[in-house]
Amino acid sequence: MKATQTDQLTGTITEFHSLFPGEDEVIDFLFGLRWPDGFICPSCREKSPGVHPARTFICPKCGNLSSLTTGTIMHGTKKNLSQWLLAIWWLSANEKGASARELQRLLELSSYQTAWTWLQKLRMAISFADREPCKGVVELGCSEVTPAWERHEEALVFTAAEFILPLGVTGRIRMSMAFDCSEKAMVQFLQKAVKEKSSLIAPGFAPFSHLEQSNYSYIIDSKTEIPKRIEEINSSFEIWLHKIHRGGVSLKHLQLYLDEFCFHNNASLMANRHSIFMALVQGVLEATPTSYKEIVQTGAGGKRK
Ligand SMILES: [Zn+2]
Repeated sequence: MKATQTDQLTGTITEFHSLFPGEDEVIDFLFGLRWPDGFICPSCREKSPGVHPARTFICPKCGNLSSLTTGTIMHGTKKNLSQWLLAIWWLSANEKGASARELQRLLELSSYQTAWTWLQKLRMAISFADREPCKGVVELGCSEVTPAWERHEEALVFTAAEFILPLGVTGRIRMSMAFDCSEKAMVQFLQKAVKEKSSLIAPGFAPFSHLEQSNYSYIIDSKTEIPKRIEEINSSFEIWLHKIHRGGVSLKHLQLYLDEFCFHNNASLMANRHSIFMALVQGVLEATPTSYKEIVQTGAGGKRK
């Protein structure tokens, strides 16, 4: 994909096919992103700059067979990589939210399970693509969300949201499931979700009451138990979840959906569609492989390499 082609992307499927007309173009593109200075063998870690872009490689140094997808979220796939890239393109251009049924139709997959697994894997990649913490003036809250209205389940979620002055609009958001609303859990959330030295607007009681001793400025919002902005974000998340995924989702997979919801919000603040797409492709190449069985059993997100 040439730089001149990326300024005004609209995100349509037709546009994707004009930028990536075939499997060779997709392989060239992914190879260049994964190994910009030439092939590095996933087995022996030796560089071999003379190796040309391909789907599979035999390392000239150690003789091991590896693939462009080795060690990525696409690890072990037998499908064309152009299908994977189309799925990434579609998810990054999808502002409202994505369902496995839609992905199944788009890729003409015979199996719903394959579409569901791919989408869960792409959601795992989102946590790698969307890592920038909130900063500046940030509202903070811990409250319950309901991932499946019919099942009456609830989950505790920490939510952080930038408060952009002077208009007071919402900027980047981060959300994370918590076992409890303890001070320890909140500190763990803040370390990942909010840049140090930011100003936090939070309620004036536990677990927030010791925030003044932390690396943040603490502005007490004494009016409410949960800041209004946080309440609105959590409520929007529940509505989004039930609209896109009728019947809701299970608690063990909830974090993936929180990540996707934050990604759509945060992507809307990015300069252009190309940046969103590239961030998600990088996430797919960086996140570790997870099988369908692991996703179903644990709902675990990818681990950082
Ligand atoms: Zn090697």
